Amino acid sequence: MRATRALIHLDNLAGNIREAKRLAGEGVKLCIPVKADAYGHGAVQCAMRALQSGADCLGVAAVDEGAELRAAGIRAPILLFSPPAVDEIPHLIHEDLQPFVFDSEMVALLNDQALKQGKTVRVHLKVDTGMGRVGCRPEEALGTAQEIALAKAVLMEGICTHFAVSDSPEDGDAAFTRKQLKVFLETAAGIEKAGVNPGIRHCAASGGLLFYPESRLDMVRPGIITYGYYPGAYLRGAPEMAAKTTAVFTPVMELVSQVSAVRTIRAGETVSYGRTWRAEEDGRIGVIPLGYGDGLRRSLSPGLTVGVNGAPCPIVGRICMDQCMALVKDAKRGDPVTLFGDKKKGAPMDAGDLAEIARTIPYEILCGILKRTPRVYL
Ligand SMILES: *Cc1c(COP(=O)(O)O)cnc(C)c1O
Repeated sequence: MRATRALIHLDNLAGNIREAKRLAGEGVKLCIPVKADAYGHGAVQCAMRALQSGADCLGVAAVDEGAELRAAGIRAPILLFSPPAVDEIPHLIHEDLQPFVFDSEMVALLNDQALKQGKTVRVHLKVDTGMGRVGCRPEEALGTAQEIALAKAVLMEGICTHFAVSDSPEDGDAAFTRKQLKVFLETAAGIEKAGVNPGIRHCAASGGLLFYPESRLDMVRPGIITYGYYPGAYLRGAPEMAAKTTAVFTPVMELVSQVSAVRTIRAGETVSYGRTWRAEEDGRIGVIPLGYGDGLRRSLSPGLTVGVNGAPCPIVGRICMDQCMALVKDAKRGDPVTLFGDKKKGAPMDAGDLAEIARTIPYEILCGILKRTPRVYL
């Protein structure tokens, strides 16, 4: 196997889920998103461990992702967050996925296909309270709920919405989140008042779960904290939000490699494409066999510090497709390298630090680790 691997610490995943469950409190169901291959960690392995650790159901974005879990023998409820293509509907029903729906056409298509297969399909009515992505408008929700109630083979399992800025500490954003929640609760109550049971109400992803206890309702859907990172604004930039949570989450993925070669460099010589880095003095360069072809973004250099034999060493010069170079002191071939991981266990940086350097969010760093890097489950 390649020296470059993503170690997946499943015990940390289990610990994070227990922490999320503790936060959510008694009687609140836990839906663990395993979309995008469990944020890059491996969907089947993470789903199984999540279910063992107290998750009630799973969330995916694509029908094929749900089918992968079913093929692995997972029987737990699987929510389908994103609208399927029309020609995926037979597959979705066959695999017993629970789609988010928000228009009459989809309700009718699901009903027809479920009748054909002699099944019922459980759905969640998605209301757009301000995310501006998918969902019906709040004023249309009752009509759609009534259509679901009338469709013989469609069952309303729940009602949901999604927050746009629940991870942001700005005053205006907090007001917007509270407004979204208010509209959602009023919409669900209106449906109930009209005599239709809306089922379980859920709206909180990681941000809602951490920062808006009143949004926990009947179920929460925390993704990024399951994998060990805080959402969006990232707590170091928002100490006032950090103060709102006592929850501790541990990174699940540790990206490691080994020094493949050690080279001598003389003062004035340059390293890698574009000659962007020049040695100020004589030194040694450790070559590491991974690059942007593994998802180690080119924009991480300069800035990325890796651990070589536990010592922090800067990556110098441009990151290539398959290799990158670190300025090392006394490394030798085969020495262990940590690209990112748990800082409490000695990694110089975590995926949140990488996200800051690359001006993105930890989600994209984790999902961005490509298939060439094998996942090793611990
Ligand atoms: C991805 C997703 C989540 C999880 O979001 P996090 O910010 O990772 O907690 C929850 N709900 C829906 C609908 C999603 O698409």
